[in-house]
Amino acid sequence: MPSESPPRSPATAPSPAGAPEPAAVRRYQPPSIAGDYLVLTPKQKQLLAIAAELGRNKFAPRAAQIDRDAVFPFENYADMRAAGLLKICVPEAYGGWGADFETYVLVAAEIGRHCGSTALTLNMHVGTAMWTGAIADDLAMTPDQRASHELHRAFHYQRIVQGGKVYSQSFSEGGAAAAGKAPFGSLAKPVAGGYLINGKKIFASLAGAADYYGILCTLDKPGATMRDSLYLAVDKNLPGVSVVGDWDPLGMRGTVSRTILLKDVFVPEIERLMPEGLYAQAATRWPHMFATLSPTYMGIAQGAYDFTVQYLRGEVPHMPPVKRRMYQTKQIAVAEMKVKLEVTRAIFLQNARAARVDPSKEIRLGLLAAHYTLMENANDICRMAVRTCGGQAMLKSLPLERMYRDSRCGSLMLPWTAELCIDRLGRETLYEAGEQDEPDVL
Ligand SMILES: Cc1cc2nc3c(=O)[nH]c(=O)nc-3n(C[C@H](O)[C@H](O)[C@H](O)COP(=O)(O)OP(=O)(O)OC[C@H]3O[C@@H](n4cnc5c(N)ncnc54)[C@H](O)[C@@H]3O)c2cc1C
Repeated sequence: MPSESPPRSPATAPSPAGAPEPAAVRRYQPPSIAGDYLVLTPKQKQLLAIAAELGRNKFAPRAAQIDRDAVFPFENYADMRAAGLLKICVPEAYGGWGADFETYVLVAAEIGRHCGSTALTLNMHVGTAMWTGAIADDLAMTPDQRASHELHRAFHYQRIVQGGKVYSQSFSEGGAAAAGKAPFGSLAKPVAGGYLINGKKIFASLAGAADYYGILCTLDKPGATMRDSLYLAVDKNLPGVSVVGDWDPLGMRGTVSRTILLKDVFVPEIERLMPEGLYAQAATRWPHMFATLSPTYMGIAQGAYDFTVQYLRGEVPHMPPVKRRMYQTKQIAVAEMKVKLEVTRAIFLQNARAARVDPSKEIRLGLLAAHYTLMENANDICRMAVRTCGGQAMLKSLPLERMYRDSRCGSLMLPWTAELCIDRLGRETLYEAGEQDEPDVL
């Protein structure tokens, strides 16, 4: 049974064997990512404890090198596999944890606190199990579709649960499709026993690292629309699959989001992750399915805040115990950061707990507002942290400059970039469904 006390903080974790003891006594206790730890369910506490332990002791120490080399965090994935985190959203009936939306985003945020790239790529992997699991359970299917879906998902879940396999999720193509404004340009032609895929996916996180690429494409038939979107798992070793281009970006460097090319790739029918047409239904009826990206940024915001407090208290491990907390400017700055952090956390938790099928208009608008706020506030909290901690914050020996760069990437991610959130919020607030203006008003 998990204990009622919050997970042990980095401040009280033992030093690695042989490492010199830090000069300062570390007394700051980084809080639970959930704020009020006591309201969490036993499963949430248990999963958060696993994520916090791995994050503190394994992911945080590796994060700088992963960032510097822009390489995929394979070791972190081995640790998550061993700890069972790769099956977090696989339903319990199939051997997973059966984590719901709220539980998953709390865990993702805790991981993001220690390594943004690991949290963001975990999101791509987990999305497949969540969409085919709890989300698909809420959607309308014919009895035949439901029976076939059970067969298909059992096949994919055993890969994850027994085989420890990793999935990715590729929407982006450089056109309007990833923003949800046009059918995907990658096409899947029905052929005997499966589909033949042709297409190109850009910014494909886990390119070369995932075992299976989750490819969003359009069923190749005359007059196909966005309703004909298809979600297929593509074995990375299949003939016709290649990864091209380099990867040397500003931030989130460990995601290794290179380009995937698909040329006449035959994919067996069992690799269809959802029945034909179901993705479009999910996107309309379960919009929180796209909001699994932003918890990473909640975690980065918390990480930047934790670091700032430790730094001002002179409690950063392996640094001289110089205190800066007595200066009033620092106290005001940290107070401003705390205000922004708590606003961000409040909207994060409220949105996580509101996720459901067929949400009301207010919940949909709140979702866009939350997604926007998480991504933008994370970068702003990192900016405040760099300004407050001063020149040393720029050094690559400390994590702040990486958090600052990583946090900038959130707002760029389709389908809901910061711009597109604002665009939709404005329009959907001022127009009810089907409303248009008279020509002379335009
Ligand atoms: C670190 C990182 C990891 C990523 N991983 C993945 C991944 O695993 N899978 C995946 O599919 N994608 C991934 N992406 C890609 C991401 O979701 C976007 O597709 C990509 O960043 C957009 O690139 P772009 O600027 O060329 O897009 P563009 O399509 O040129 O869009 C540029 C901007 O214009 C705006 N815009 C775009 N379309 C419209 C429109 N129709 N109407 C109004 N405004 C619009 C948006 O604000 C957008 O930010 C990742 C991106 C990053 C930064």
